[in-house]
Amino acid sequence: MKTFLRGALCAIILTLSIFLASCGDTQTDTASFEAMDTLMSFTVYGDESICDTIQSRILSLDALVDATDENSEIYRLNTAKKATVSADTAALLSNALALCDRLDGSFDITVYPAVQAWGFTTGDYRIPDDNELKTLAESIDYTAVSFDGDGTAFLPEGVMLDLGAVAKGYAADVSGDILRESSAHAAVLNLGGTIRLYGKKPDGSRFKVGIADPQNPAGYFGYLSCGEGVVATSGGYERFFEQDGKRYIHILDPATAAPVDNNIQSVTIVSDNGAFADAASTALFVMGLDKATAYYQNHNDFDFIILTDDNNLYVTEGIYDDFTLSDSYDFTIQKVRSLS
Ligand code: AMP
Ligand code: MG
Repeated sequence: MKTFLRGALCAIILTLSIFLASCGDTQTDTASFEAMDTLMSFTVYGDESICDTIQSRILSLDALVDATDENSEIYRLNTAKKATVSADTAALLSNALALCDRLDGSFDITVYPAVQAWGFTTGDYRIPDDNELKTLAESIDYTAVSFDGDGTAFLPEGVMLDLGAVAKGYAADVSGDILRESSAHAAVLNLGGTIRLYGKKPDGSRFKVGIADPQNPAGYFGYLSCGEGVVATSGGYERFFEQDGKRYIHILDPATAAPVDNNIQSVTIVSDNGAFADAASTALFVMGLDKATAYYQNHNDFDFIILTDDNNLYVTEGIYDDFTLSDSYDFTIQKVRSLS
Protein backbone atom coordinates (compact mmCIF):
# COMPACT_ATOMS: atom_id res chain seq x y z
CA MET A 1 0.00 0.00 0.00
CA LYS A 2 1.29 3.46 -0.87
CA THR A 3 2.50 5.44 2.13
CA PHE A 4 -0.04 8.22 1.70
CA LEU A 5 -2.85 5.66 1.57
CA ARG A 6 -1.64 4.09 4.80
CA GLY A 7 -1.58 7.52 6.45
CA ALA A 8 -5.06 8.25 5.18
CA LEU A 9 -6.32 4.93 6.55
CA CYS A 10 -5.01 5.67 10.07
CA ALA A 11 -6.58 9.11 9.90
CA ILE A 12 -9.91 7.67 8.81
CA ILE A 13 -9.94 5.05 11.56
CA LEU A 14 -9.27 7.69 14.19
CA THR A 15 -11.93 10.04 12.85
CA LEU A 16 -14.49 7.26 12.86
CA SER A 17 -13.55 6.00 16.30
CA ILE A 18 -14.05 9.50 17.69
CA PHE A 19 -17.47 9.54 16.06
CA LEU A 20 -18.45 6.02 17.13
CA ALA A 21 -17.44 6.61 20.71
CA SER A 22 -19.85 9.50 20.93
CA CYS A 23 -22.86 7.80 19.34
CA GLY A 24 -25.15 5.40 21.16
CA ASP A 25 -26.98 4.43 17.96
CA THR A 26 -26.93 0.76 16.91
CA GLN A 27 -28.51 0.98 13.42
CA THR A 28 -25.37 1.74 11.50
CA ASP A 29 -23.90 1.09 8.09
CA THR A 30 -20.19 1.36 7.31
CA ALA A 31 -17.98 1.08 4.24
CA SER A 32 -14.28 1.39 3.51
CA PHE A 33 -12.86 1.34 0.00
CA GLU A 34 -10.33 2.87 -2.37
CA ALA A 35 -11.52 5.53 -4.84
CA MET A 36 -10.22 8.77 -6.35
CA ASP A 37 -6.68 7.68 -5.50
CA THR A 38 -7.32 7.64 -1.77
CA LEU A 39 -9.07 5.63 0.94
CA MET A 40 -12.64 6.44 1.77
CA SER A 41 -14.48 5.38 4.90
CA PHE A 42 -18.09 5.96 5.87
CA THR A 43 -20.29 5.58 8.91
CA VAL A 44 -24.00 6.26 8.55
CA TYR A 45 -26.63 6.17 11.30
CA GLY A 46 -30.31 5.40 10.78
CA ASP A 47 -30.01 3.61 7.42
CA GLU A 48 -28.56 0.11 7.17
CA SER A 49 -27.93 -0.06 3.43
CA ILE A 50 -27.07 3.38 2.11
CA CYS A 51 -23.26 3.03 2.09
CA ASP A 52 -23.37 0.68 -0.93
CA THR A 53 -25.39 3.23 -2.90
CA ILE A 54 -22.96 6.05 -2.06
CA GLN A 55 -19.93 3.86 -2.75
CA SER A 56 -21.15 2.82 -6.22
CA ARG A 57 -22.04 6.41 -7.09
CA ILE A 58 -18.52 7.57 -6.14
CA LEU A 59 -16.85 4.69 -8.00
CA SER A 60 -18.81 5.47 -11.16
CA LEU A 61 -17.96 9.19 -10.90
CA ASP A 62 -14.30 8.24 -10.43
CA ALA A 63 -14.41 6.01 -13.53
CA LEU A 64 -15.75 8.97 -15.56
CA VAL A 65 -13.33 11.66 -14.45
CA ASP A 66 -10.00 9.98 -13.58
CA ALA A 67 -7.58 11.61 -16.04
CA THR A 68 -5.11 8.72 -15.71
CA ASP A 69 -7.69 6.06 -16.65
CA GLU A 70 -7.72 5.36 -20.41
CA ASN A 71 -11.41 4.46 -20.22
CA SER A 72 -12.55 7.69 -18.55
CA GLU A 73 -14.39 10.50 -20.28
CA ILE A 74 -11.81 13.03 -19.15
CA TYR A 75 -9.00 10.90 -20.61
CA ARG A 76 -10.96 10.76 -23.89
CA LEU A 77 -11.44 14.55 -23.88
CA ASN A 78 -7.77 15.16 -23.02
CA THR A 79 -6.67 12.94 -25.89
CA ALA A 80 -9.21 13.76 -28.64
CA LYS A 81 -9.65 17.44 -27.61
CA LYS A 82 -13.36 17.12 -28.31
CA ALA A 83 -15.81 14.86 -26.47
CA THR A 84 -19.45 14.59 -25.63
CA VAL A 85 -19.65 13.67 -21.98
CA SER A 86 -22.27 12.17 -19.66
CA ALA A 87 -24.52 14.29 -17.46
CA ASP A 88 -22.38 13.44 -14.38
CA THR A 89 -19.14 14.57 -16.00
CA ALA A 90 -20.88 17.64 -17.43
CA ALA A 91 -22.15 18.67 -14.00
CA LEU A 92 -18.73 18.26 -12.39
CA LEU A 93 -16.97 20.05 -15.24
CA SER A 94 -19.35 23.04 -15.16
CA ASN A 95 -19.03 23.23 -11.41
CA ALA A 96 -15.22 23.04 -11.61
CA LEU A 97 -14.97 25.74 -14.31
CA ALA A 98 -17.15 28.06 -12.21
CA LEU A 99 -14.83 27.43 -9.24
CA CYS A 100 -11.74 28.33 -11.32
CA ASP A 101 -13.39 31.72 -11.85
CA ARG A 102 -14.57 32.07 -8.26
CA LEU A 103 -11.08 31.26 -6.93
CA ASP A 104 -9.40 33.80 -9.21
CA GLY A 105 -7.45 31.16 -11.19
CA SER A 106 -5.42 29.87 -8.19
CA PHE A 107 -7.48 26.76 -8.74
CA ASP A 108 -7.17 25.83 -12.43
CA ILE A 109 -8.29 22.47 -13.80
CA THR A 110 -5.96 22.77 -16.82
CA VAL A 111 -2.83 22.07 -14.73
CA TYR A 112 -2.71 18.46 -15.97
CA PRO A 113 0.21 18.77 -18.46
CA ALA A 114 2.28 20.31 -15.65
CA VAL A 115 1.18 17.63 -13.15
CA GLN A 116 2.34 15.01 -15.69
CA ALA A 117 5.61 16.80 -16.49
CA TRP A 118 6.66 16.79 -12.81
CA GLY A 119 5.86 13.06 -12.65
CA PHE A 120 3.00 13.26 -10.16
CA THR A 121 0.77 10.98 -12.25
CA THR A 122 3.33 8.15 -12.52
CA GLY A 123 5.79 8.59 -9.65
CA ASP A 124 8.63 9.08 -12.18
CA TYR A 125 9.51 12.45 -10.70
CA ARG A 126 11.62 15.02 -12.55
CA ILE A 127 12.26 18.75 -12.49
CA PRO A 128 11.36 20.43 -15.81
CA ASP A 129 13.80 23.16 -16.91
CA ASP A 130 12.82 26.84 -17.11
CA ASN A 131 11.90 26.70 -20.81
CA GLU A 132 9.65 23.72 -20.31
CA LEU A 133 8.03 25.39 -17.29
CA LYS A 134 7.37 28.55 -19.31
CA THR A 135 5.63 26.52 -22.04
CA LEU A 136 3.67 24.56 -19.44
CA ALA A 137 2.57 27.73 -17.62
CA GLU A 138 1.35 29.18 -20.94
CA SER A 139 -0.80 26.08 -21.49
CA ILE A 140 -2.57 26.49 -18.12
CA ASP A 141 -5.69 28.51 -18.81
CA TYR A 142 -9.14 27.30 -17.83
CA THR A 143 -10.75 30.06 -19.95
CA ALA A 144 -9.51 28.19 -23.05
CA VAL A 145 -11.87 25.29 -22.23
CA SER A 146 -14.99 25.52 -24.31
CA PHE A 147 -17.99 23.87 -22.73
CA ASP A 148 -21.61 24.76 -23.22
CA GLY A 149 -22.62 22.90 -20.07
CA ASP A 150 -24.90 20.38 -21.76
CA GLY A 151 -22.51 17.89 -23.25
CA THR A 152 -19.75 18.69 -25.70
CA ALA A 153 -16.41 20.06 -24.54
CA PHE A 154 -13.45 21.28 -26.62
CA LEU A 155 -9.84 21.74 -25.56
CA PRO A 156 -7.17 23.57 -27.56
CA GLU A 157 -4.00 21.65 -28.46
CA GLY A 158 -1.71 21.37 -25.41
CA VAL A 159 -4.53 21.77 -22.86
CA MET A 160 -5.59 18.88 -20.61
CA LEU A 161 -7.92 18.64 -17.62
CA ASP A 162 -7.31 17.38 -14.09
CA LEU A 163 -10.33 17.32 -11.76
CA GLY A 164 -8.35 15.79 -8.90
CA ALA A 165 -8.50 18.87 -6.68
CA VAL A 166 -12.30 19.09 -6.77
CA ALA A 167 -13.66 15.58 -7.49
CA LYS A 168 -13.70 14.43 -3.84
CA GLY A 169 -15.53 17.58 -2.77
CA TYR A 170 -18.05 17.18 -5.57
CA ALA A 171 -18.49 13.53 -4.54
CA ALA A 172 -19.11 14.77 -0.99
CA ASP A 173 -21.95 16.94 -2.32
CA VAL A 174 -23.44 14.08 -4.35
CA SER A 175 -23.21 11.87 -1.24
CA GLY A 176 -25.01 14.54 0.78
CA ASP A 177 -27.85 14.50 -1.78
CA ILE A 178 -28.11 10.69 -1.48
CA LEU A 179 -28.18 10.92 2.33
CA ARG A 180 -30.96 13.51 2.21
CA GLU A 181 -33.12 11.06 0.20
CA SER A 182 -32.40 8.23 2.68
CA SER A 183 -33.61 7.50 6.19
CA ALA A 184 -30.16 8.30 7.63
CA HIS A 185 -30.14 10.85 10.43
CA ALA A 186 -26.40 11.26 10.82
CA ALA A 187 -23.26 10.38 8.87
CA VAL A 188 -19.53 10.95 8.74
CA LEU A 189 -18.16 10.30 5.25
CA ASN A 190 -14.39 10.56 5.03
CA LEU A 191 -13.51 10.86 1.35
CA GLY A 192 -9.75 10.79 1.92
CA GLY A 193 -9.31 14.04 3.82
CA THR A 194 -12.51 15.65 2.54
CA ILE A 195 -15.08 14.98 5.23
CA ARG A 196 -18.84 15.28 4.76
CA LEU A 197 -20.73 15.66 8.05
CA TYR A 198 -24.43 15.04 7.78
CA GLY A 199 -27.39 15.38 10.11
CA LYS A 200 -27.33 15.32 13.89
CA LYS A 201 -25.70 12.83 16.23
CA PRO A 202 -28.21 10.90 18.37
CA ASP A 203 -26.98 12.54 21.58
CA GLY A 204 -27.32 16.00 20.02
CA SER A 205 -23.61 16.78 20.37
CA ARG A 206 -21.59 18.26 17.53
CA PHE A 207 -19.23 16.29 15.28
CA LYS A 208 -15.55 16.35 16.16
CA VAL A 209 -13.10 16.31 13.24
CA GLY A 210 -9.36 15.79 13.68
CA ILE A 211 -7.07 17.96 11.51
CA ALA A 212 -4.10 15.90 10.26
CA ASP A 213 -0.62 16.81 11.46
CA PRO A 214 1.45 17.28 8.26
CA GLN A 215 4.56 16.00 10.09
CA ASN A 216 2.71 12.84 11.12
CA PRO A 217 -0.48 12.58 9.06
CA ALA A 218 -1.82 9.68 11.15
CA GLY A 219 -2.02 12.10 14.10
CA TYR A 220 -3.98 15.28 14.69
CA PHE A 221 -2.69 18.66 15.77
CA GLY A 222 -6.20 19.73 16.70
CA TYR A 223 -9.91 19.14 16.59
CA LEU A 224 -12.77 21.07 15.15
CA SER A 225 -16.25 20.83 16.54
CA CYS A 226 -18.69 21.13 13.61
CA GLY A 227 -22.30 20.91 12.56
CA GLU A 228 -23.37 19.79 9.08
CA GLY A 229 -21.02 20.63 6.24
CA VAL A 230 -17.72 19.71 4.64
CA VAL A 231 -14.20 19.97 6.05
CA ALA A 232 -11.51 19.65 3.33
CA THR A 233 -7.75 19.70 3.86
CA SER A 234 -4.94 20.09 1.31
CA GLY A 235 -1.32 19.59 2.25
CA GLY A 236 2.01 19.04 0.60
CA TYR A 237 2.43 15.95 2.79
CA GLU A 238 -0.22 14.11 0.74
CA ARG A 239 2.14 13.74 -2.25
CA PHE A 240 5.64 15.06 -2.81
CA PHE A 241 9.18 14.14 -3.79
CA GLU A 242 12.54 15.39 -2.61
CA GLN A 243 15.63 16.14 -4.64
CA ASP A 244 18.88 17.69 -3.38
CA GLY A 245 17.28 18.43 -0.04
CA LYS A 246 14.33 20.33 -1.52
CA ARG A 247 10.73 19.19 -1.35
CA TYR A 248 8.45 19.44 -4.39
CA ILE A 249 4.74 19.08 -3.60
CA HIS A 250 1.78 18.06 -5.79
CA ILE A 251 0.01 21.42 -5.51
CA LEU A 252 1.11 23.57 -8.44
CA ASP A 253 0.94 27.31 -8.96
CA PRO A 254 -0.94 27.82 -12.26
CA ALA A 255 1.12 30.98 -12.90
CA THR A 256 4.46 29.14 -12.91
CA ALA A 257 3.49 25.46 -13.47
CA ALA A 258 5.79 24.69 -10.51
CA PRO A 259 5.06 23.23 -7.07
CA VAL A 260 3.99 25.82 -4.54
CA ASP A 261 6.67 26.78 -2.04
CA ASN A 262 5.21 29.42 0.23
CA ASN A 263 5.71 28.33 3.84
CA ILE A 264 2.34 26.64 4.19
CA GLN A 265 1.97 23.10 5.54
CA SER A 266 -1.76 22.66 5.18
CA VAL A 267 -5.00 24.47 4.45
CA THR A 268 -8.34 23.31 5.84
CA ILE A 269 -11.59 24.80 4.54
CA VAL A 270 -14.98 24.54 6.21
CA SER A 271 -18.00 25.17 3.98
CA ASP A 272 -21.51 23.88 3.30
CA ASN A 273 -20.41 23.23 -0.26
CA GLY A 274 -18.02 20.29 -0.74
CA ALA A 275 -16.81 21.17 -4.25
CA PHE A 276 -15.99 24.67 -3.06
CA ALA A 277 -14.26 23.40 0.12
CA ASP A 278 -12.07 21.00 -1.87
CA ALA A 279 -11.15 23.46 -4.64
CA ALA A 280 -10.59 26.27 -2.13
CA SER A 281 -8.27 24.17 0.05
CA THR A 282 -6.03 23.81 -3.03
CA ALA A 283 -6.49 27.41 -4.18
CA LEU A 284 -5.80 29.07 -0.83
CA PHE A 285 -2.66 26.93 -0.53
CA VAL A 286 -1.54 28.43 -3.87
CA MET A 287 -2.50 31.97 -2.80
CA GLY A 288 -0.37 31.88 0.34
CA LEU A 289 -1.34 33.30 3.74
CA ASP A 290 -1.74 37.00 2.85
CA LYS A 291 -3.79 36.54 -0.31
CA ALA A 292 -5.82 33.75 1.31
CA THR A 293 -6.62 36.09 4.22
CA ALA A 294 -7.68 38.86 1.82
CA TYR A 295 -9.77 36.37 -0.16
CA TYR A 296 -11.54 35.28 3.04
CA GLN A 297 -12.15 38.86 4.07
CA ASN A 298 -13.63 39.71 0.67
CA HIS A 299 -15.90 36.68 0.54
CA ASN A 300 -16.65 35.68 4.09
CA ASP A 301 -18.82 32.66 3.27
CA PHE A 302 -16.43 29.94 4.50
CA ASP A 303 -13.79 29.41 7.18
CA PHE A 304 -10.20 28.24 7.13
CA ILE A 305 -7.38 26.86 9.26
CA ILE A 306 -3.93 27.50 7.76
CA LEU A 307 -0.83 25.93 9.30
CA THR A 308 2.44 27.62 8.26
CA ASP A 309 5.95 26.12 8.25
CA ASP A 310 6.81 27.93 11.51
CA ASN A 311 3.89 26.18 13.25
CA ASN A 312 1.65 29.22 13.43
CA LEU A 313 -2.01 28.45 13.02
CA TYR A 314 -4.34 30.97 11.45
CA VAL A 315 -8.00 30.28 12.24
CA THR A 316 -10.87 32.41 10.92
CA GLU A 317 -13.23 33.86 13.46
CA GLY A 318 -16.26 31.78 12.37
CA ILE A 319 -14.62 28.60 13.73
CA TYR A 320 -12.05 30.05 16.14
CA ASP A 321 -14.02 29.02 19.24
CA ASP A 322 -14.70 25.56 17.76
CA PHE A 323 -11.03 24.66 17.39
CA THR A 324 -9.04 22.87 20.13
CA LEU A 325 -5.30 22.32 19.90
CA SER A 326 -4.20 18.76 20.81
CA ASP A 327 -2.34 18.42 24.12
CA SER A 328 1.16 17.75 22.84
CA TYR A 329 1.25 20.69 20.39
CA ASP A 330 2.44 24.18 21.23
CA PHE A 331 1.43 25.90 17.97
CA THR A 332 0.63 29.59 18.21
CA ILE A 333 -2.97 30.32 17.22
CA GLN A 334 -3.94 33.61 15.58
CA LYS A 335 -7.54 34.65 14.98
CA VAL A 336 -8.25 35.87 11.45
CA ARG A 337 -11.05 38.41 11.52
CA SER A 338 -13.54 39.09 8.80
CA LEU A 339 -13.92 42.74 7.84
CA SER A 340 -17.69 42.91 8.32
P1 AMP B 1 -5.92 18.55 -3.45
O1 AMP B 1 -5.36 17.34 -2.81
O2 AMP B 1 -7.40 18.65 -3.39
O3 AMP B 1 -5.25 19.81 -3.00
O4 AMP B 1 -5.63 18.41 -5.01
C1 AMP B 1 -4.33 18.34 -5.50
C2 AMP B 1 -4.34 17.70 -6.86
O5 AMP B 1 -4.98 18.57 -7.79
C3 AMP B 1 -2.93 17.49 -7.40
O6 AMP B 1 -2.48 16.19 -7.14
C4 AMP B 1 -3.09 17.80 -8.89
O7 AMP B 1 -3.55 16.65 -9.57
C5 AMP B 1 -4.17 18.84 -8.92
N1 AMP B 1 -3.69 20.22 -8.77
C6 AMP B 1 -2.48 20.67 -8.34
N2 AMP B 1 -2.41 22.01 -8.30
C7 AMP B 1 -3.64 22.45 -8.72
C8 AMP B 1 -4.21 23.74 -8.91
N3 AMP B 1 -3.53 24.85 -8.63
N4 AMP B 1 -5.48 23.81 -9.36
C9 AMP B 1 -6.19 22.68 -9.64
N5 AMP B 1 -5.71 21.43 -9.48
C10 AMP B 1 -4.45 21.32 -9.02
MG1 MG C 1 -8.69 20.24 -3.25
